[in-house]
Amino acid sequence: MHNAALKACGIDAQYVRLQIRPDELADAVRSLVENGFLGTNVTIPHKVGMLGLMDEVDDHARKIGTVNTVVIDGGRLRGYNTDGPGIVRAVRSEFSVDLRDLRVMILGAGGGAGRAIAVQCGMENCERLVLVNRTFEKAKALANELQPYFHGTRLIGPVARLEAVPWEEAELKFQLEHTDLVINATSIGMKLSDPSPVPSSILMPHLMVYDTIYTAARTPLLKAADEVGARSANGLSMLLHQGALSFEIWFNREAPLEAMRAALMQG
Ligand code: NAP
Repeated sequence: MHNAALKACGIDAQYVRLQIRPDELADAVRSLVENGFLGTNVTIPHKVGMLGLMDEVDDHARKIGTVNTVVIDGGRLRGYNTDGPGIVRAVRSEFSVDLRDLRVMILGAGGGAGRAIAVQCGMENCERLVLVNRTFEKAKALANELQPYFHGTRLIGPVARLEAVPWEEAELKFQLEHTDLVINATSIGMKLSDPSPVPSSILMPHLMVYDTIYTAARTPLLKAADEVGARSANGLSMLLHQGALSFEIWFNREAPLEAMRAALMQG
């Protein structure tokens, strides 16, 4: 999608993919600087490691604790995170609603998607946030960290504005009754043989269901959402928007969204 964007904007540059091991990250970054790269994206498993290699880190990326976008400027490295803002744009484009107005449940509190989305929900001061993770302690720790964002009393009702809950069907069913948007930020569903992270028996038609996975058009979770008539979307829009935001940071101009979307759909 980035090469399509560069072409559409007439920018004489190329986006290339480099596969590196964690122990090669520092050397790889140095070589990007030496070889005149304008910037880079980083993905699994480098988003945390990259933070420590930056000369400057944007406030938003620091709060999220990971960097996925780097600007190389006069030999200096500035780190950003566009995953969180990417989900805001994705939710708006898929469901015509703002994340901040929603009661959100996030499945997965991993260092990549889950944490970035949860911190973004905190920064947006969204109506309600429920964190669910296989390793409960991780969800609990993240909820504790996000507590300062949720001290107000916007929500009136029988449930707390911010909760970490164990991954148990009865608990999820209760929480889903007080949720508008469910986001899957686990890796369950990357393989087509995977089950849905949440069975269709506890999903409800009022829900919006967003799966950050983008490798399949209809992941097991999205198929489960279809069974109950819930609105749903896969992670392509988050991928698109985090990429568009990276482009905007690198080139300080609006990203050619349609060219990028078309390239993603072809890929
Ligand atoms: P990660 O840091 O490795 O986290 C993986 C998460 O999945 C953890 O919460 C982990 O729980 C959970 N998990 C893994 N296997 C599980 C299982 N069998 N049962 C229950 N939970 C399980 O990975 P990540 O970088 O956050 O990526 C997570 C997903 O987000 C991936 O599917 C990726 O494709 C997607 N993603 C999408 C975008 C986008 O732009 N659309 C961007 C980034 C990531 P534990 O903590 O208990 O291990």
